[in-house]
Amino acid sequence: MRAEVDRIAEPWGGRTPYGPDTQWPARVDSFLEPGVTADGVERWVQTASLLHSNGDAMDLAVADGRIVGVRGRPQDRVNRGRLGPKDLFAWQANHSRDRLTTPLIREGGRLVACDWDTAMDRIVDRSQQLLRERGPGSVGFYTSGQLFLEEYYTLAVIARAGIGTNHLDGNTRLCTATAAEALKETFGCDGQPASYTDVDHADVIALFGHNMAETQPVLWMRVLDRLAGGEAPRLVCVDPRPTPAARHASVHLAPRAGTNLALLNALQHEIIRTGRIDHGFIDAHTVGFHELAAGVADCTPDWASRICDVPARRISEAAEILGGAERLLSTVLQGVYQSHQATAAACQVNNLQLIRGMLGRPGCGVLQMNGQPTAQNTRECGANGDLPGFRNWENDTHVADLARVWNVEPSRIPHYAPPTPAMQIFRYAEQGSIRMLWISGTNPAVSLPELDRIRSILGQERLFTVVQDLYLTETAQLADVVLPAATWGEKTGTFTNADRTVHLSDKAVDPPGDARPDLDILLDYAGRMDFRDKDDRPLVPWHDAESAFEAWKECSRGRPCDYTGLTYERLRGASGIQWPCTREAPEGTERLYTDGITWAAPGTCETYGRDLITGASVSETEYRALNPNGRAVLKAAEYLPPHETTDDAYPLQLNTGRTLYHFHTRTKTGRTPQLNAAAPEVWVELSAGEALRHGVEEGDLVEVTNPRGSVRGRLRITGIRDGMLFLPFHYGYWDTPEGDHPGKDGGRAANETTVTDWDPVSKQPLFKTAAARLTLVERAEGTLCPAPTTTASAPVDPRSVPPTTGGPPAIAHQTVASTECDRR
Ligand code: SF4
Repeated sequence: MRAEVDRIAEPWGGRTPYGPDTQWPARVDSFLEPGVTADGVERWVQTASLLHSNGDAMDLAVADGRIVGVRGRPQDRVNRGRLGPKDLFAWQANHSRDRLTTPLIREGGRLVACDWDTAMDRIVDRSQQLLRERGPGSVGFYTSGQLFLEEYYTLAVIARAGIGTNHLDGNTRLCTATAAEALKETFGCDGQPASYTDVDHADVIALFGHNMAETQPVLWMRVLDRLAGGEAPRLVCVDPRPTPAARHASVHLAPRAGTNLALLNALQHEIIRTGRIDHGFIDAHTVGFHELAAGVADCTPDWASRICDVPARRISEAAEILGGAERLLSTVLQGVYQSHQATAAACQVNNLQLIRGMLGRPGCGVLQMNGQPTAQNTRECGANGDLPGFRNWENDTHVADLARVWNVEPSRIPHYAPPTPAMQIFRYAEQGSIRMLWISGTNPAVSLPELDRIRSILGQERLFTVVQDLYLTETAQLADVVLPAATWGEKTGTFTNADRTVHLSDKAVDPPGDARPDLDILLDYAGRMDFRDKDDRPLVPWHDAESAFEAWKECSRGRPCDYTGLTYERLRGASGIQWPCTREAPEGTERLYTDGITWAAPGTCETYGRDLITGASVSETEYRALNPNGRAVLKAAEYLPPHETTDDAYPLQLNTGRTLYHFHTRTKTGRTPQLNAAAPEVWVELSAGEALRHGVEEGDLVEVTNPRGSVRGRLRITGIRDGMLFLPFHYGYWDTPEGDHPGKDGGRAANETTVTDWDPVSKQPLFKTAAARLTLVERAEGTLCPAPTTTASAPVDPRSVPPTTGGPPAIAHQTVASTECDRR
C-alpha cells in the first residue's frame, strides 16, 4: 500500500483485504497542514467525525493553540483508523476568517454587533412577552443533527418542561425521520438493530437508496476490503444513479423515482412465492405475515417492472440473491427516506429481513441509516419529535416517568398531540401562531423545500428569529438575533453514530472571539428565564457537559437507549461503545434483538404506530389487539403513484442529493479548500439519451425549471436512468454577491425547485419526486462541468473531462497498523 495518497482523487484510499468472520485490519489515515510534522504536534485530542453519521474516531492535532491536523484511531471499532475526505480536511473550516465572533442584533433593519447580555436580554424579553401574551405554543425551536447529546438533552428539557411547547424538532426531520419511524413501526421502538461489524460477516449486502460510498465513505472502505478479500459478499443495489456501489453490484436496479414500494413488494412476492422464508422465525417473532403475504400476492416482477421501469428479469435476479443469502445485511438511506411512500418502503426492507429470519445474528440485520453525525442523539434526547429516552407521548406512564426524572408535574410536559414536525413548525410560523423561532446549527433558507416560501416565512416582521451558528449563513442573514457558536474541537460532549456507538469529543482549542458552546448558550438562557421544577429548584441544574451527560444517563436508565454504564472516563482513550451500555452489559451491545423483539409490547413501545398509507394513528386499543405479545410487526402497504408526475411541460423527474465532497449547505465544506475545489459549483446530471433528446452536451449551461423556481448549472452526462435529472443540493448563496437569495441569472440552490410535500408517516419532506424541464442557456464552448468524476457524477465517457484530483494539498498518509480493536 502506498504511504501517500491524493484523497480527493482516491477518496477511499488503499485496500486491506479481509475474509468473512475475521477482524477488519487497521489502517491509520492522517493529514497535517503543510509545514507541520508529527514532532511539531503538541497534543492529540480525541474526537470523532462531524460531517456524516459514520462516527469515525480520530484525534485532532494541536499546536500553538490551533488545530493543525487529524489522524484516525485504529483501536476504534467503527473505522479502525481510517478517515474519509471530509474527516481529513474539513477541520480547516473551523479556522475560517468569517467565523462569527460576537452576537448580532437587528437594529434599523441591519445586523449590528453587541455583547452577550444585550443579545440574551432581547431573547429573554421576547420569550417572556410571548409566554404572557400568546402562551407556550407561540415559541418554536428548530435544531440540528450536529450538536452534541448534552446540548439536545438540555434543549429538550428547556422546550418541553421550561417553555412547555410542543414545537421542537431537528433538521434530522429532513434526514433520518423515516429511519426512526420505520424502526418504530416494525420493532415498536427506535434503535438500530444491526452493527457495522455485520459487514464482516454478511454474504449479501443490499443497499436500498443508499449511496454508501459517498455518504459513509469509511463504511464503504469496509465493504471494499471485503470485496477485495476471499469469499466476497454479493451486493444488490437499488439506485437510479450509477453510484460506486452500483458499479460493484451483482444486480443494480435503477427504478423510476417514487416507485420503491412497488419494487420492494415485488421482491417480497418473489421470496414468499419461492418459499425462501423462515417460518420458525416468523411464527416466534412477528405478527402480520398473512396480511403481508396477501398484500404482495399480486406484486409480480412483471407488475413491478411496468411501474418501476426495471426489467422483470433483474427483479427476479435480485430476489434470488436476497432469498438465497445465508447472512443478509440491508442498508437504507435517502433514496428511500426522501422519496414517495418513504416509511412504507423502509418498513418493507425490515419485512424482508424478518421473513427471511435475518436478525440478531452476525451478518444479519438492517441499518436504517442516519445521515448526520448526531442525528441519533436528537431522537434519543427528545429533540426530534419524540419524548426523551424513546418514551411514548401517548402512554401516560411514560409521561409520568419523564416528569419524575425532571421533577415536574406531568401536565407540564405537552403531550396532548404528537410533537410538532419541522414542516408543520414552519407552517405555523407562516400562519402566525408561532412568533419566535430559535434555529440552532442549521440553515433552512437553503435546506428546506421551496425556498422562495421559506425565505418569505423567515423574513416576516412578526416572526422573531434567533439563529445560533458558526457563520453568517443564508438563514442568519434573515435573523433578528444571531448568536456565535463554538463548534466541534472547541467544546466537549458526546455523540452517537448510526450503529449506536457513543464517542466522546474533547475540547482541543478555544472558540474564536466571544463564540460560546451551544450548551453554555442554552444554560445561560435557562438561568435567565429562571425555569424551576415543582420544588422551586432550577429545572436545569447541570452546569457543564459532563454533568449534563450524567443527567441524561438518569433519563435513559431502563430505556432502550440506556447509557448508564458509560462515563466520560470510560470513553476516553479506548474505542467508542454501543448503547445499551449498562451494569449488565458493560461493554455495550453489538446487536439488538438477539433474543427476540424487546420493546414492542403495548406497555413499553415508543409508538402504537400509524397507517403506512395515510399516516393515521393506530390507537392503543388497536395496537393491543394487533400485537399483545410485543412482536415485530410486518406491515404491508399498497403502492400508490407519486403526487407530482411528469407531463409535457415538465417531462423530467427531478432528483436531488449530495456528493462525497460536501455536507449539507456547504457552510463547512465550502470553506475547506480541498473539498471545495473538488466540487466548486452546482451542476446538472442527465443521461446520454436524454441529452440527445434535449439537444444538450457535456458542459453546456442549462436551466432546470418548474413552477416553484429555477436553477442554472453546467451539464454532466452520466449513467443516471433516462427520464431523470439530478441536482446536488449543497449550493446556496453565502458565497455569491446576493448573499442569501438567487441572483438575476437564476438560482443555485436545488431547493428552489423542490416541492412542499412530505411522507404521511414520518413527515420527512420529499426531495426526490418533483417534475421539471431542462433548457439550454448557452453552449459549453470549452467550459468544463464542475461535477466530480470520482463519484456517482462520473461522466459516461471518462475521456471527455479531466479526472478530479486534489494534487499536493490533498496528499494524506495511510499506514497499515497491527493495533487490535478495543471492542468488536
Ligand atoms: S446530506 Fe442528507 S443524509 Fe446526509 S446528513 Fe444531510 S440530510 Fe442527512
